[in-house]
Order: sequence, then structure tokens, then C-alpha cells
Amino acid sequence: MAITVLPRAHELDLSPGRLYIDGEWSEGEGGSAWTHLSPATNEEVTTWATAGAADVDRAVRAARRAFDEGPWPSMRARERMHLLQRLVGLIHENADELNRLQVLDNGMPLSMSSSYGASAGMAADRIDHHVGWIDKLTGETFPVYSEGHPMQMLTLLEPIGVVAGILPWNAPLMQSCGKIGPALAAGCTLVIKPSEYAPLTVIRLAELIEELELPDGVFNLVLGDGPVTGEALVTHEGVDKINFTGSRATGEHILAASGKGIRRVSLELGGKSPSIVFADSDLERAAVTTMAHVSIGLSGQVCSAQTRALVEREVYDEFVEIAARAGDRVRYGDPFEMATTSAPLINAVQLEKVMSYIERGGEEGGRLVIGGDRPAGELGDGNWVNPTIFADVDRTMTIAREEIFGPVLSVIPIEGEEEAVRLANDSPYGLSAGIYTDNVERAMRVARALRAGTVGINDYDFFPNAPFGGYKASGLGREGGRHAMEAVMETKTVMVGLGEAS
Ligand code: NAD
Repeated sequence: MAITVLPRAHELDLSPGRLYIDGEWSEGEGGSAWTHLSPATNEEVTTWATAGAADVDRAVRAARRAFDEGPWPSMRARERMHLLQRLVGLIHENADELNRLQVLDNGMPLSMSSSYGASAGMAADRIDHHVGWIDKLTGETFPVYSEGHPMQMLTLLEPIGVVAGILPWNAPLMQSCGKIGPALAAGCTLVIKPSEYAPLTVIRLAELIEELELPDGVFNLVLGDGPVTGEALVTHEGVDKINFTGSRATGEHILAASGKGIRRVSLELGGKSPSIVFADSDLERAAVTTMAHVSIGLSGQVCSAQTRALVEREVYDEFVEIAARAGDRVRYGDPFEMATTSAPLINAVQLEKVMSYIERGGEEGGRLVIGGDRPAGELGDGNWVNPTIFADVDRTMTIAREEIFGPVLSVIPIEGEEEAVRLANDSPYGLSAGIYTDNVERAMRVARALRAGTVGINDYDFFPNAPFGGYKASGLGREGGRHAMEAVMETKTVMVGLGEAS
């Protein structure tokens, strides 16, 4: 019998898909109807009306007013901190529901949605971390520069203004809080647009934010797709800063759009990250962890997934064997069952794209070790693709160069450190990298030589207090830690004449 998520959707008592603008809920007008399908089954879960350009205009105007005329940007640190700290508690209190909504959103298995990294717990910690910065955002003071014109100079950090937060679909809880936390903590006002493929958790979060009773217009939610709703938001002249996470193609488009009016922009984009495995590493750990990047949890639909394994020849065959065994341990099924380890692909377009990359991998000479096909039977209606390994991949092949965003690992043989670094850096992207070796000196040498935003040595993870972002085409700017606060603030230099002693 085919699996179904509809009874779980019913239990969750979904909130209607509405917009939250200027402190009020309303139906989208002027957009189109959107039907949310579960990626695990392609069942219709719910429908709503998306926001058209007029709705987006209303949201940006509300945010503009709340910033230009409201109390929020100049609210004292203690008051803003106390207000936002309540959100951390509310997220924890509703964690189970939020984690389940995320499963319904994008097919992420509950085993992942309820374990720390992508969960409501992580989302709450991201808010908590940034709220913690509110009373610690210090400027600088400088030595008086010249006798001729003695002045005391200092800097103030000020909120940047109206922020447009645009989200992808793959981890809506932690990604939304990565945008909401810094913007509100800094004193900015926000219009957030979740992905049309994963709005359910963000709608619920908006209901929790409503309970804070922030001044009207400080937080606004618009729902809709990229071409209509997203486009209206990123081209709106009332937006001061665009904080975008998504694909490189959309990022390039947004960067061009932000040029008009010289609006600020941060981009968190895709990757084709390497996992470098030296012969002296703990090979079991290296192979299992690398394979997990493309097969456990979101099945490789993660920006930082290390999808290119660069493996020293001495251990190459053994690596492929262990990775294949790890791939065979993946369990697909009802995403709400804790035994299910991995997700389907988000939609039919992504399914077709991944299958065409797999076909291309074979045509260009990759050796298919496992997978390459789709499971049948009870999973037949969902967007599932079996974990796939291509060995003997060459650096020039399409599957070695382009982001696939699916359960596909390309294994490339290497000889020595110099080739490892050269091939690792041979990519238009530079988001993450993994290094597996027992030689700490080599690990550090290679980490320094890699052109990537985050480098994991013998392990890899993500935490709210460290910067995260990309080199090269993987992005612009950093989220996390103080970097995320500075990304939504402007620096003002103030100078005071010291005059002469009287
Ligand atoms: P996407 O670019 O298709 O969509 C992302 C968001 O942009 C969605 O909300 C979409 O509606 C919106 N959008 C699309 N066109 C737009 C336009 N013209 N104007 C304004 N907004 C528009 O990406 P996706 O498929 O949702 O996400 C997958 C991609 O995101 C992958 O490339 C992945 O690597 C990347 N990603 C990066 C990070 C990171 O932190 N670096 C994290 C997660 C995902």
C-alpha cells in the first residue's frame, strides 16, 4: 500500500496560508492559487492564495513606516532583548509541532527534523544567539589623529533599515530564524518570504511572533513564488537590504536587481564541495560521513553537502566499498516514521533534474557503483531517488562540476596533497570542504589552502555562533555570530572636536 501523509497533516491542524502585514493577517490578492504537495507522496496537503505585487508593496510600506516612524529601531537594548527573548521560549514550547510541520513542508524525515541540527531547537538557538548580541554591539573609539585638528572619533552601529529575507525550502526552521534573529535584534524591520515549497513552518513561526506584540510592521510575512512575489520584493525601492538564501542563478539575478538604488545584499548560495580523504585517515569514518552528506537527512539537498570525494589512490577502492555499504543502509518510507533516514526530492522538477544528471554521469564515463534509479512499490508516488555513487569520475565531468542537489556522490581519485588542493579548488563554488587525515600539520596546511567558507577536519557541522558563507559563486557575506549582525547594520563615524584647553 502506498504511504500517505494526509492523516498527519490533519492532526497538525494547519493554519491557513495567509499573509501577515502591518500586524494583521490577510488573504493574498493579485497572486495566484498555490497547491502544496508532499514531496514524499505528491498528495495535496493544502492550498492558498499567493501575494501579488500590491500585497508585497503593502508589506514593504508597513516595514518602512515601522522603521522610519516607529519606536523599534531606537528601542533601548534591554527592552528589545526582553521582547525577543520570549520568542525563544515560544519556539521551544511549540518545538514538536514545528518539527512536524517541517516534515510536511519538504519531506525532511522526522528523524532529522527532530534531531538538533535542523530542528526547532536549533532555530530557537539561532534567535537566542542573536538576541544575546543586542547589548553587546559595541562600536570603536580611535586615537586622536592629528595635532592640527584634534577630534575624538568613534563609531556607532545602526540598523540598516528594511530587510527582505528570502528563504529556500530545504531547512525552513533554522533558515528563517537565521534571518529573523539578526534583523530584529539589530532593530531592523523585516519582510520575510519563505519558499513556495516550504511555507508551513514559517506561517506557524509568524503566529508565534505575533504573540510578542511587536509594533505593527516590524515583522511581515508574504507567501508566494519567485517570479511574482519574490521579484516584487527584491525590486521594491523601499527595501534597504536583501538577505537571500537559495540557488546561484537566483542569487545572480538578485545581485543585479540590487544594483538599482545601490541596495545592500547578502547571498547564501549553492556549492559543489569537496571531501578530501587521505590514506592516513580513519577511512570508515571518512567514507560513512561523506556518504551521509548525500544520503542521510535531506538526501544531498543541502548547500554545504560535500558531494565530490577526492580520495587518495591507496585507499580508493576501500573507500568506495565502505561508502556503498553506507548507502545501502538508507531507509526511505513515511517521513513521520523515526526509522526513515532520508528525504525525497522536493518536487518533480528537481527529480527530473537529478535523474538527468545521473544519466549524464554514465554517458560521460562515470562508473555507477550503487543507485542511479528510483525505488518502486509503496514509494512510487513520491519524488524518491536511490542513493547513488559514481566512481572513477574525472574533474571535467558535469557531475564533478555542477551542483546536483540530490543523493549523488562523485568519487575522484587523487595522488597527494598538492593534487588534493588543486582539484578541491577547481570549482566555481567555495562553500564548504572536508579533510580526513590523522596528520594534524597536513590538515591545517590544506585547510589554509582551500578556497571555502567553512572547512571541517575529520568532521563537519553547523552552529549558530560561527560565521557561515561562501567564497566565489557560493555567496556574498556571512551568516552566524557577529558577522550576521554586522550584515544588517550600518557603521556611522561620529567625530567631536576637542578644541583647545582654556
Ligand atoms: P531558489 O533560488 O530556486 O529559490 C530560493 C528562494 O528564492 C525561494 O523563496 C524562491 O521563491 C525565491 N526566488 C526565486 N526566484 C526569485 C526572483 N526572481 N526574485 C526573488 N526571489 C526569487 O533556490 P531553492 O531551490 O529554494 O534552494 C536550493 C538552493 O539553495 C541550492 O542551490 C542550495 O545550495 C541553496 N542553499 C544555500 C544555502 C546556504 O546557506 N548557502 C542554504 C540552503 C540552500
